[in-house]
Amino acid sequence: MTSAKRNRKTGTAPTKAKPAAKAAPKPAPRTTARSAIRVGIAGSAGRMGQMLLRLLIAAPGILVVGGTERKGSPAVGRDLGALAGGEPLGIRVGEAPEKLFAEADVVVDFTSPAATALHAGLAAKTGTAHVIGTTGLDSEQLTTIERAAQRAPIVMAANMSLGVNIIEHVVAEIARILDPDWDIEIVEMHHRLKVDAPSGTALMLGEAAARGRNQPLRRLARRGRDGETGPRPRGEIGFAALRGGDVVGDHAVIFAAEGERLEIHHKASSREIFARGALKAVLWAAGRKPGLYSMRDVLGFAPVVSPAP
Ligand code: NAD
Repeated sequence: MTSAKRNRKTGTAPTKAKPAAKAAPKPAPRTTARSAIRVGIAGSAGRMGQMLLRLLIAAPGILVVGGTERKGSPAVGRDLGALAGGEPLGIRVGEAPEKLFAEADVVVDFTSPAATALHAGLAAKTGTAHVIGTTGLDSEQLTTIERAAQRAPIVMAANMSLGVNIIEHVVAEIARILDPDWDIEIVEMHHRLKVDAPSGTALMLGEAAARGRNQPLRRLARRGRDGETGPRPRGEIGFAALRGGDVVGDHAVIFAAEGERLEIHHKASSREIFARGALKAVLWAAGRKPGLYSMRDVLGFAPVVSPAP
């Protein structure tokens, strides 16, 4: 899905270069309120929110127009620039997502599942593009997002890093090539504060493996083992979640057969990789037609294996 559309709010096509000036070289054009993509950050005081603030404030072509936090958060009322550890921006952290969605062309959202589902409803109402990094959404919340995507462009990815999206791509292909005698296990480790398990990324990698096997993940997934589990059923996709310390995110997909084992690892050592991916998604999503998009759309990967029916 790649159709581009003029930005509904600024009336500009944000990714389109301005015509070159005829005269001698000029300094690079500064971002102005008229030409920039207006971006809002939901959950701006969170670990990802603060990282995004720093990156987006410095990004050319982007104007940070607001940030929200949950009601009662000590960050509400703080200056967004100061929150990012820089110069004041003159914009305070708010607690009204309606205002954020009304003012922004794109809202980036790394909050909680309940907040994200509510935000998707606002995206549908305003037509604002919504970039969702939040994980742990249940099926009802996912349905809300799918519905909202009929009215607004929504990019959703449990992991926005380039590396994970590359391995997601190859895991589907490896699973397609190898028969179910190759057992698939997915192991992840995250910091002690993470609230959902298995991680959204582990599930995304599981979906890719299931796609390669032409089956829905819900039929194959084994989310943790304990006690008398019996022998491993053929074709199962197992998950194991480890928690501890400040681990940003480690994932391994293991294909194990008689006599050999193939392991694919991804280790994130900085949250910046997710924020850089989210920035790519913001630039890509501004002015798109409504639809539910993934980082595969943003990064331009052609699907290797189609989703299972
Ligand atoms: P965090 O707890 O540090 O930040 C979440 C922030 O959202 C908090 O500041 C919280 O107060 C705020 N929040 C909660 N409800 C809100 C509401 N209604 N309105 C506005 N703000 C609200 O967590 P984090 O580590 O930044 O992660 C946030 C989410 O992003 C998690 O689901 C995590 O798994 C996910 N994540 C995704 C990626 C990715 O690449 N997709 C990468 C890292 C984290």
